[in-house]
Amino acid sequence: MLLKNATLIEGSEVEVLVEGDRIAEVGPSGSAIDGDADTLDLAGYVLLPAPAEPHAHLDKALTADRVVVQAGDLGAAIEAWHEHRRTLPVDDIARRAEAAARASLARGVTAVRTHVDVGEGIELRAAEALIEVRDRLRPLMDVQIVALSYPLTGVDGADNRALVRAALELGVDVVGGAPHIDPDPAGHIEFCLGLAAEFQRAVDLHMDEHMRASAVDLVDLTRLVGGSFPHPVTASHCVSLGLQAPGDQARIATAVARAGISVVSCPGTNLHLQARDVRTATPRGITALRALLDAGALVAGGGDNVQDFFHPLGCGDPLQAASLLVLGGHLDIPTAYRLVSENARAVMGLPANAVAPGGHADLLAVRGDSLQEALATATEDRLVIRSGRPVERTRVVREPLNRTVPADKEVEHA
Ligand SMILES: [Zn+2]
Repeated sequence: MLLKNATLIEGSEVEVLVEGDRIAEVGPSGSAIDGDADTLDLAGYVLLPAPAEPHAHLDKALTADRVVVQAGDLGAAIEAWHEHRRTLPVDDIARRAEAAARASLARGVTAVRTHVDVGEGIELRAAEALIEVRDRLRPLMDVQIVALSYPLTGVDGADNRALVRAALELGVDVVGGAPHIDPDPAGHIEFCLGLAAEFQRAVDLHMDEHMRASAVDLVDLTRLVGGSFPHPVTASHCVSLGLQAPGDQARIATAVARAGISVVSCPGTNLHLQARDVRTATPRGITALRALLDAGALVAGGGDNVQDFFHPLGCGDPLQAASLLVLGGHLDIPTAYRLVSENARAVMGLPANAVAPGGHADLLAVRGDSLQEALATATEDRLVIRSGRPVERTRVVREPLNRTVPADKEVEHA
């Protein structure tokens, strides 16, 4: 397949030859690198590496209408959710999860890592539902499922430890956890790393999702991972790292990079849930992005919750997450997009999808002249290519209906 007249992030207009699930060749527009291939004209679109969602909760998605008032901070949201999750059957979870995943796909997401609640009240029902959805959507997107449970230590954690183990045996992909919600955070991390070593799985922990500057469990994680843990380790959120002095941020970020730990920032949920009681100069709840990037750590951006008990908005669109990384995290636009695309895929261990020869052909074309315009409008006018095959197209039709102003004046401010 030949993609014609596409604009790349750096502004050049090119044609892209895709063979199978790979990009075979990229040349200047009009060079007709393969006259025989099926063609797709992408004039008026910017062609991007497809984004990926490295931190979702598909089991919780699309439940915002079931709470009268949003609970507020993370603890209150967890309490309300844990009460609700008791009532959830497998089919309700699967239906919402698939709807949220497909909504993300329409916006260009061809890979999702989703956490799934495992524990008292929900047991393995959400895990069963997400495994069903993962397997059904496999031709359209890569879905990785992370077992999330707490506490995992002591007598109170015994049932959860058994359930996480059972979830992995059932087919969940990644070991998850949340050390900061456990009475023994270091013990929680040790259990997760031990289980990952036993099952030979990656680890992805909710890390330091709070505003207590004195507690940085990330330091324990870097120590316990060392440089020798053989499986990928991801720390999501890392909010309290952002509360440290610059020198401490740099020191911890260097240790994170050396340990090979990747970090996923979820600006939407953390802007919403953290520091709600601080009225003056309210902190943003976003990790130390600049220190981590300067240290050379692999950093990605995630959307996290979608219209649920934890976050009432969002639609699974990484362009929105990238916008928040620009506005709330002060990243430049290309870096913000890299965090939600190439870096997000790297966190998930998926093949790189740069628009260049050899790149995996998971691509997203967004209507607009530039990446800046795509992020600014976040238009739904998109075309999604999965493993070299177009799989979704959304067209936006604008119909100016007031003809009292001449048409050329209408476009002046478009
Ligand atoms: Zn999360």
